[in-house]
Amino acid sequence: MPENTDISELPVAVIGAGPVGLAAAAELLERGLTPIIFEAGATPASAVASWGHIRLFSPWQYDVDAAARRLLVPTGWQEPDAETLPTGAELHEQYLSPLAAVPAIADALHTSTRVLAVSREGLDKTRTGGRENTPFLLRVQDAEGAVTDYRARAVIDASGTWHTPNPLGQAGLRAVGETDAFEAGLITGPLPDVVGRDRARFAGKHVLVVGAGHSAANTLLALGELAEQEPGTRISWAIRSASANGVYGGGDLDGLPARGALGSRLRTLVSDGRIELHTSFTITGFKTSDTLAVIGNTPDGEKQLDVDLLVPATGFRPDLDLLREIRLDLDPAVEAPRELGPLIDPEFHSCGTVAPHGAKMLSHPEKDFYIVGMKSYGRAPTFLMATGYEQVRSIAAALAGDQQAADDVQLVLPETGVCSTDLGGSCDAPADGAAEAVACCGVPEAEPEASSSCCGAPEAAPEPAPAASSCCSAPEPQFLGIPTGLEHGRSAARES
Ligand SMILES: Cc1cc2nc3c(=O)[nH]c(=O)nc-3n(C[C@H](O)[C@H](O)[C@H](O)COP(=O)(O)OP(=O)(O)OC[C@H]3O[C@@H](n4cnc5c(N)ncnc54)[C@H](O)[C@@H]3O)c2cc1C
Repeated sequence: MPENTDISELPVAVIGAGPVGLAAAAELLERGLTPIIFEAGATPASAVASWGHIRLFSPWQYDVDAAARRLLVPTGWQEPDAETLPTGAELHEQYLSPLAAVPAIADALHTSTRVLAVSREGLDKTRTGGRENTPFLLRVQDAEGAVTDYRARAVIDASGTWHTPNPLGQAGLRAVGETDAFEAGLITGPLPDVVGRDRARFAGKHVLVVGAGHSAANTLLALGELAEQEPGTRISWAIRSASANGVYGGGDLDGLPARGALGSRLRTLVSDGRIELHTSFTITGFKTSDTLAVIGNTPDGEKQLDVDLLVPATGFRPDLDLLREIRLDLDPAVEAPRELGPLIDPEFHSCGTVAPHGAKMLSHPEKDFYIVGMKSYGRAPTFLMATGYEQVRSIAAALAGDQQAADDVQLVLPETGVCSTDLGGSCDAPADGAAEAVACCGVPEAEPEASSSCCGAPEAAPEPAPAASSCCSAPEPQFLGIPTGLEHGRSAARES
């Protein structure tokens, strides 16, 4: 490090310009700190743009960060109706794009710039002496492939998990041939817009959906719609568990009519034979040609499904490779910061009743380095934007030296609704089988089939609720939601 460098004059690097990265920038600016923001996509919040066709389950009042609001209001920005549920595209157009265009943020934002690695200048991970006062080094790559090193006084990693879906193979590993199939374009990205933007790719094709959560249910219903309009479209669905009942939910008995109706529609598509369901199917390999051969173990022996395209709906995990030179302290199971991990581990906390948390809980042995947002939850699927906004408010305060404000973490979410629900397996929905019923009530041994995230509110609880209690006793959620992963990255319920 050059001798005359005053580390406090360097910017705070923010990795990712999603909702939480942009909120971090707004919070830093409000504290008089200078952000520098790196976004891999060509536009801000490119991950949200990818799922623009999906409607959020959190109404606008929980989607806007307070410091961001204070930056936006003087520009003449009109805040959308607090009670309305935006789509991802609306969130992007009506909030994230205007926020990214505020001059103080726009000047700090580098789009089409991927962070490849984070380290300390001149020090690898093993070197301790002087570490805390040595600038961070961020190695980034632009769209043309040019690589540049930037220096920063602190780093906030808000890079999400969207680009690292869980593998399709068993045991958390890619199956033989999975990489080739992906590179050949026969395995799509998560949550494709099959009736909109990506329609031509799916029309008239035989499509296999893999997974047993919300993403799978959404994609299957959209494919069902497509098949009605586009003759020759064929739909298959593979799950690892023995039954799809948990995905269907309670049908007419469901406490949430909209959710019940969706589950019933899915059940009907299966029972009418318009979706071919393959249960107890564990993918072991792929063979790529013009089409895709999907090989699986089943109770009846090996089976092969020949399809044109496969849509993975198996959840997400954090990309930790770029943090190889950073001293992290992560929960060994969830891959969230160690103290946070046990509070959100879906294997034991089916309802995600996590206390509000900030800089302290999110800190690592690497001083002034934080993982926030979706990525801070590691492999747990219950993250909410509002949680991320409080994380970055606290971290900006800590970096500005206001420890009292950093420690005063607060998060008020309603008792119902803001993060709800799954298509089945919720305790407020009568489950078809005993397994589903217990699974969602927090019995650790049982793995819910439909999804790991039962609900997730209320986060305002001062103490984490006991695992078994909160889900079944919580008031009914109001909205239909999509959890974004599955517990510990399992692609569909029970391992065989
Ligand atoms: C379909 C869906 C629906 C959801 N609905 C809700 C909801 O209703 N309510 C709610 O509260 N939450 C919801 N979530 C969960 C969560 O709040 C969102 O995923 C949210 O976008 C997370 O924000 P983030 O900023 O942490 O991550 P992201 O939005 O994923 O943003 C991360 C950004 O980092 C960029 N990036 C990644 N790697 C790098 C790198 N190496 N260098 C530079 N940039 C990088 C990405 O391109 C991306 O733009 C939903 C999630 C999904 C997937």
